[in-house]
Formats: sequence, C-alpha cells, structure tokens
Amino acid sequence: MTANDDRILFFDIDGTLIHSGAAGSAALDDTLSAVLKIENPDTDIDYGGRTDLGIMRELMELNKIKYSSSLEKKLLEHYVDELKKWLPQKDGKVLPGVVALLDHLRDLPGFQSGLITGNIRPGAFAKLAHFNLDHYFAFGGFGDREIKREDIVAEGLRDATSSLGRYVDKDKCLIIGDTPRDVECARAHGIKVLIVTTGFASQKSLLAADPDYLVDDLSDREQIMQILSSF
Ligand SMILES: [Mg+2]
Repeated sequence: MTANDDRILFFDIDGTLIHSGAAGSAALDDTLSAVLKIENPDTDIDYGGRTDLGIMRELMELNKIKYSSSLEKKLLEHYVDELKKWLPQKDGKVLPGVVALLDHLRDLPGFQSGLITGNIRPGAFAKLAHFNLDHYFAFGGFGDREIKREDIVAEGLRDATSSLGRYVDKDKCLIIGDTPRDVECARAHGIKVLIVTTGFASQKSLLAADPDYLVDDLSDREQIMQILSSF
C-alpha cells in the first residue's frame, strides 16, 4: 500500500477518547464567574458534540452578556487556564481500548490519526496532554473559529492535506465519535463514521442517527481493525 492509500482517521475527543470527569464544565463555570462577574451563571445548555465557540456564545446569550470578540477571546483564554487547573482535580479517564488502539495504529503502515473536535485547539491539547495522548495526532480540526461541526471537518481535511502534503480522498477518511452530531458532520462531507457508545448520547439517538458503524467502545481490536480496513 502506498502512502496515498493511507486511511485517515479523525478522532473526536470527549466521550470518544476520554471523559474529562466534568473538568470542562467546571472550567466553564469558573470562567463565567471570574470573567463576567456572575455568581451562579446559567449553564443549562446542551454540550454534546458542540463546539467550544458555539457553547461560549450560547452561554453569553443565555446570561445576557453582550457579545464582543475581545470578550470572547478573554473567556476562551481563561477557560483553558481553568481547564488545566481542573483536569488533575477531577476523576477523568481514558476510555477502554484507546491507548492500545492508538499505539497499534501508530506502528501500523497505512493509517494516519488526526482529530475532529469541538474543543478549541489549546483546550483539546490540554485534555490530551493530561492523559498523555497528545503525541498521537499530527493534524486536526478544532472549535476555535468554527461554530458548526461540519466546518470543523473542512478545517480537519485542510490540515490533513497540508500535514501529509498530498490530496486527501474523503473515501479514505473515517470520523470516529460518540454523538449524533458526529454522524451529521460526517454525512455533510460524505465521510463514513464510526460511533462508540462511551459518551453521554442515548443508544436510541445514536441508532436513529444511523452511523455506518456502531460499537460499544474501542477495546475489541479485531472488530475495530476490521472496520478500519473495510472502507
Ligand atoms: Mg464527543
């Protein structure tokens, strides 16, 4: 197999590779309190499969804070600092099979691993570094500039193209995630999608989203490698 036939795997982070033990929401709460000077900010929104930018804008609106790009930048910077503080204090974990699979893929010709995540880039790498997973990924799409997950996929494809120095064929790509939004963003690009049920999405909602592949987690090497070799 030549390098041009390599399969490109785009991993989601939260609910797919790790659970942060709610470090993300603790960091968000503290950020809103500290930067916006609001006690008990309203944070009752849907977080699954969302982008950090989209979440931050909805929280600002919900808490009746006038949007400005400088305030948003300040909030996101503060959030990353809080995240680094909270990660070691929370009981997060790497999900089953993740390390063994990433090790296996790194040593295996024919596969390239990247990220498609709603996390802003520094937040994504703070989480990955905390769990010693940051060294596996050479490219990705992140939630720094994009509200919509399908735009993050476009960014991930561009970054893969520039990192690998060649055209990236969408037929050779796979998105691996844990929410119906991961399925939608893959569909928007005609990319196949593998869903794990280690996140917070209900089995029913995942079945309704109709992913190409649905597995309990990433621990059954034979099953996963069969899927990764089948498209
Ligand atoms: Mg996720």
